[in-house]
Amino acid sequence: MNATKTVLVTGSSRGIGRAVALRLAKAGYGLVAHGRAPGGALEETVSALHAAGAAVRTLCFDVADRAGAAAALEADVEAHGAYYGVVCNAGITRDAPFPGMTGEDWDLVLRTDLDSFYNVLRPIVMPMIQRRAPGRIVTIASVSGLMGNRGQANYAAAKAGVIAATKSLALELAKRHITVNCVAPGLIGTEMVREEVLEQLMNLIPLKRAGKPEDVAGLVAFLLSDEAEYITRQVFAVDGGLST
Ligand code: NDP
Repeated sequence: MNATKTVLVTGSSRGIGRAVALRLAKAGYGLVAHGRAPGGALEETVSALHAAGAAVRTLCFDVADRAGAAAALEADVEAHGAYYGVVCNAGITRDAPFPGMTGEDWDLVLRTDLDSFYNVLRPIVMPMIQRRAPGRIVTIASVSGLMGNRGQANYAAAKAGVIAATKSLALELAKRHITVNCVAPGLIGTEMVREEVLEQLMNLIPLKRAGKPEDVAGLVAFLLSDEAEYITRQVFAVDGGLST
């Protein structure tokens, strides 16, 4: 059992983050469920986590807000102790062909999907180190960050940045026995992906189906486990064979 190990999953109100949190709850971890705001979808996640028997608390902040994230995370760590693991999952898209991409589309995606790496991890890494015990960090990037994608210059740039930051942090934390890995999903059926996009891209997916949030959650849970202690600084695609 992992009852004493607490994992923060950002963006666990919906989609992949919710499936990850649920999978970790079933494996016996304590969960810090995170969303932008309390209530609604986040409460549904918390109910499902309770039903799975997990110890759960919630944390709400905008991952693009550096000061707000630091204040919330520092207070939580102060009150409850450092985390064993963190899954940096919260993210958004604002797709547009490049000539039509507004400065706001660019800035919002970079702030939410890339700056969040710094905003979330910077306040909690030192307490993780000071636990003097193994730890786990998993970032959620995207195959867009590996291959680029039409209409996603902002998102691909942010996710490529997450991949590079993940590999760098892995080097820094290896001697502390904290592993840092990245999962790059392909097309996963959540609110983020429009149905017509799924249909258009289906012929590019060798396994001929969209991924499910649970497909991603299984790998994340493995990377959080004791069995993954010798795996760090890696990027794993979960994409039905879409990327090379
Ligand atoms: P969803 O849109 O279903 O869920 C996104 C989650 O992120 C929600 O919990 C949302 O919280 C949270 N979130 C978004 N912006 C912020 C913010 N500024 N501050 C705090 N929380 C925020 O997306 P997915 O589950 O599909 O995506 C999860 C991750 O997986 C993302 O990083 C995404 O880029 C990545 N990914 C997804 C793919 C897919 O095909 N679905 C493919 C490749 C990567 P709230 O409910 O409060 O809005």
